[in-house]
Amino acid sequence: MLGQFDPEFTALMNETMQMLRDLFRTSNRWAYPIDGTSRSGLEAVLTGLIEPGDRVLVPIFGRFGYLLAELSERCGADVVTIETTWGSVFDPAEVIEAIDREKPSIVAIVHGETSTGRAQPLDAIGRACRNRDILLVVDAVATIGGMPVETDAWMLDAVIGGTQKCLSVPSGMAPITYNDRVERKLIRRKRIERGIRPEGYSDDGDPAAFIRSNYFDLTQLQDYWSPRRLNHHTEATAMLYGLREGLRLVLEEGLEARFTRHRLHERALVAGLEAMGLSRYGDDSCKMTVVTCVRIPAGIDGEAVRSQLLADFGIEIASSFGPLKGQIWRIGTMGYSCRKSNVLLGLAALEAVLPLHGAAINPGTAVKAALDRYAEAEGAAPDA
Ligand SMILES: *Cc1c(COP(=O)(O)O)cnc(C)c1O
Repeated sequence: MLGQFDPEFTALMNETMQMLRDLFRTSNRWAYPIDGTSRSGLEAVLTGLIEPGDRVLVPIFGRFGYLLAELSERCGADVVTIETTWGSVFDPAEVIEAIDREKPSIVAIVHGETSTGRAQPLDAIGRACRNRDILLVVDAVATIGGMPVETDAWMLDAVIGGTQKCLSVPSGMAPITYNDRVERKLIRRKRIERGIRPEGYSDDGDPAAFIRSNYFDLTQLQDYWSPRRLNHHTEATAMLYGLREGLRLVLEEGLEARFTRHRLHERALVAGLEAMGLSRYGDDSCKMTVVTCVRIPAGIDGEAVRSQLLADFGIEIASSFGPLKGQIWRIGTMGYSCRKSNVLLGLAALEAVLPLHGAAINPGTAVKAALDRYAEAEGAAPDA
């Protein structure tokens, strides 16, 4: 193990920051992980940005939108939500209309809504927020490293990623990035711990405006991630090795190649599911490539199917939440697991297991349909 101030370790920190900038496609100064799962990144950013009474608009199109609204409420925000039907996303014009009506100072939105498998286009919303001097916070936990997330080009002010989704890094860290618009607001709310205040420091700010968390105080965390290396909590050093290695593999593959790979295997999976006769859930025009939602056939016990897939094949597929519980399965094709052998095995397993649970499917078709799709893709682009 290395200590958290060991120059060898701080060099790894700097490397990781640069890799995160590449991952988020940003030239932001700040890109570093929060210690804790993805939710800790969401909480750190929202706690840092929301002063009690701030108006926060949260457009909701699935479970994780509700989470953003709840976190904002806990920060004392005056939360306004708009909702659209699960299984679809917002027309950006609808969100912009709500922005002009509600006049929030912050908009918090999910990019890839894992609960419904839909991805919200963000570029027009980003531009609208920038033009109106509103801060845009984006939950890209499930999409980062699997689908394009263009922090700078889409004008996103703060973005939170996840490790255990498309990066294939163990859970326990939340990579974030934010720009100087965000930093300015954080610094206004800065407070230095009493025990380590420099001589002569006094804070004459309004106590009501201070960032409410110590552990998630981004001003203190960024002081540790900066060359000043001011002490805050002990860095989760072994976790950082994992994140750095995961990022190294992601960037070695190349982001574009990675997005193409996720699309390829998604299409093969979808071809197989369709051939089997299963119907999918949600609007295809905004489907995430990294999650595929399948309707559980009527009368079938979805949990029993999931259990058998896990017990007999070592394959775990997900159920869903809220109104979709018991209605759909969600099949992830994310990161390392997003590969031909897994897609073929998954389809073969479903094909074998479903009839045992009483589902009428077209037997003997799924794997072939997926293989055909792979052959087509290889014909079109030999190195796809
Ligand atoms: C998984 C997920 C989260 C929560 O992440 P944890 O790592 O479980 O804290 C938040 N938002 C989205 C969109 C997710 O997919």
